[in-house]
Amino acid sequence: MADLASIVKAYDIRGVVPDQLDEGVAESVGAAFVKVTGASTIVTLHDMRSSSEPLADAFGRGAAAAGADVLAGGLGSTDMLYYASGDLGVPGAMITASHNPAQYNGIKLCRAGAKPVGIETGLKDIQDLAERPLAPAPKPGTVTRIDLLSGYADHLRKLVDISGIRPLKVVVDAGNGMAGLTVPKVFDGLPLTLVPLYFELDGTFPNHEANPIDPANLRDLQRAVLDQHADLGLAFDGDADRCFVVDERGEIVSPSVITALIATRELAHEPGATVIHNLITSRAVPEIILEHGGVPVRTRVGHSFIKAKMAEYGAVFGGEHSGHFYFRDFWFADSGMLAALHVLAALGSQTPGSQTPGSQTPGFQSDETLSQLLAEFSRYFATGEINSEVADQAAATALVKAAFASRPGVSTDELDGLTVSAATWWFNLRPSNTEPLLRLNAEAETQATMAAVRDEVLGLVREPGIVRSCASPGGRPPGTPRRRNILCRSTAGSWTSWPARNATRRCAPTRPPASSSAPAPPAPWPTPSATTSPSSWLKRPGVPARPRERQPGRLERGGVRPGGGPA
Ligand SMILES: [Zn+2]
Repeated sequence: MADLASIVKAYDIRGVVPDQLDEGVAESVGAAFVKVTGASTIVTLHDMRSSSEPLADAFGRGAAAAGADVLAGGLGSTDMLYYASGDLGVPGAMITASHNPAQYNGIKLCRAGAKPVGIETGLKDIQDLAERPLAPAPKPGTVTRIDLLSGYADHLRKLVDISGIRPLKVVVDAGNGMAGLTVPKVFDGLPLTLVPLYFELDGTFPNHEANPIDPANLRDLQRAVLDQHADLGLAFDGDADRCFVVDERGEIVSPSVITALIATRELAHEPGATVIHNLITSRAVPEIILEHGGVPVRTRVGHSFIKAKMAEYGAVFGGEHSGHFYFRDFWFADSGMLAALHVLAALGSQTPGSQTPGSQTPGFQSDETLSQLLAEFSRYFATGEINSEVADQAAATALVKAAFASRPGVSTDELDGLTVSAATWWFNLRPSNTEPLLRLNAEAETQATMAAVRDEVLGLVREPGIVRSCASPGGRPPGTPRRRNILCRSTAGSWTSWPARNATRRCAPTRPPASSSAPAPPAPWPTPSATTSPSSWLKRPGVPARPRERQPGRLERGGVRPGGGPA
């Protein structure tokens, strides 16, 4: 019988094919899924991996043997599964391993209406049932092929109608994933000039990993946007449920900024609505939601938490730092494509008052570029997610808490890991559930403060000397070796993590002799208090003024005026 313990994760099933996940396992899971959901009909879709179609067929065989009729949608994206499950009102299964390497595959499941199935909401029951023999139903179900692509595209185009926008040139990097199928259909006939990158469906990912949260996978898109003089670039992950945006300057737009932009659009339609954001999106997100009359609700990181809060609050929209965007009108499920349509709509049909002098497109109010449109949503400097491998997650977190909690003007909470907040900076340090990692996200009003916060926390988490680190955004892809880094402290006091082979040449010895005292942490930065206000410490010698242009006329927090440094 199948042994699923190693491949059942918090939100889905994922493993190496065929060692951990083969057709027999998929068939057992299909049957168990029907038993647990009690479904009389289910829908299936699969991505472009070579193992996906056989696994989808096997899953369908198991489901049919358990008595359910199977609607087999063939190739599709994960958000297309949510559309099908929502529109047809039936449970669904998507065979995909998202952005994971070619040797992996997996199964994402949902109940009728695209309701999530996670480890606490049915997946554990499915695992238990799939691990033992199940008697077939007295009357097996049927398997019928259906086309979902046209209905999916029409549905999204009705939710965000961009047929009347000014013409835009868009580079899309599908990463050889499912956006290569969905984007041409969704964009068909719209005023968009599409420049496709890697639209060939190829589960071996011959060009780059289909994981846009890693900046390395956005380089081709950034280059193409500049070469093509495009208005923007879009990148999707392997199963095309996540979307990242590159502006006309070729710069990566933070998903927090996209969250804020979409929130303002949703709040314009529905004043006073609730918008969900996870606790590591930018502080700008709740600020902007409040400024537009909405109610921000902060959640733990993770698919199931954000979906649960969306439903609990009837929230109109939710966004995550990872490029997942959730919509109430899309069955509270996430769709990167719908987020992309919102960005195109915002850019292509701006409101009167945003007229740019010398507008080039007759009949439209503005030729504002994407970077101009988004400038007001980009307020702080963020580290991105930095992973550190630690032997004891709890001990390292406790060390950090002890170092920060008693500082004046600092508050902490433990909604998810440890969040430490002050007036002009915050950070969150949370453990990975599956690997011995601590994930750090930090943000501050200035680059210097952000770097100081980051370096002090990393200095505590990664003990001086040999550290086992993995600093790539999104973590180490499965199957790749760990890089051994050494944490070094420069004479100026900043911490840098070098590959071990370089560090010995570039740095002085980093592990102090046992007899000497450990190096002090990086010089502390001022903490806002009664005597040190955010604006006063910004005037400190050596702390540069804000290096970025701000929107003219907007009063910054802490009394700092835009563009002109401290007030
Ligand atoms: Zn995905």
